[in-house]
Amino acid sequence: MASGRDHDKATRLWSLPFGLILGLLLNPANGLIGGFAFAIGGLWLSPDLDTQSRALKRWGILKTLWWPYRKLIPHRSVFSHGPLIGTAIRLAYLMIWCSLMLLILQPLGLPTPLNMAQTLIELLKREPQAAWALLLGLEASVWLHLIQDGDPLPVEWQRWRHR
Ligand SMILES: [Zn+2]
Repeated sequence: MASGRDHDKATRLWSLPFGLILGLLLNPANGLIGGFAFAIGGLWLSPDLDTQSRALKRWGILKTLWWPYRKLIPHRSVFSHGPLIGTAIRLAYLMIWCSLMLLILQPLGLPTPLNMAQTLIELLKREPQAAWALLLGLEASVWLHLIQDGDPLPVEWQRWRHR
């Protein structure tokens, strides 16, 4: 299994080529979004947020936001390290926190979670390619992580396979 340092190094190394390839396939702006998302996905939204990791430390004082996530999700389980499902759960988890923050900060005149969701949906409809570039970047960094870990299957699948 690769160390946190190895994961960071590979993320930094592959962000640029990934962004360039995506830029050629889509357009330069979406290539930039994809390459940036790849770096964010590997360095801040890593599957290893389910354990004490370099990605977790990068959140600084905000790392406490991931405490419930770490308690709920066993390390290297399908819910953090599963292709697609890991990214989907982390994004949903962040959205729950964002919604809570917006609710708490309502007195400051911030938009409600519902308004924010509507704005987000409109943005996704207006810029579907950019949204795909973002999601592809996040997910591709997870695949790099899984490939680096040697056995890309989450622990549950390995147990299942050995039965
Ligand atoms: Zn991992």
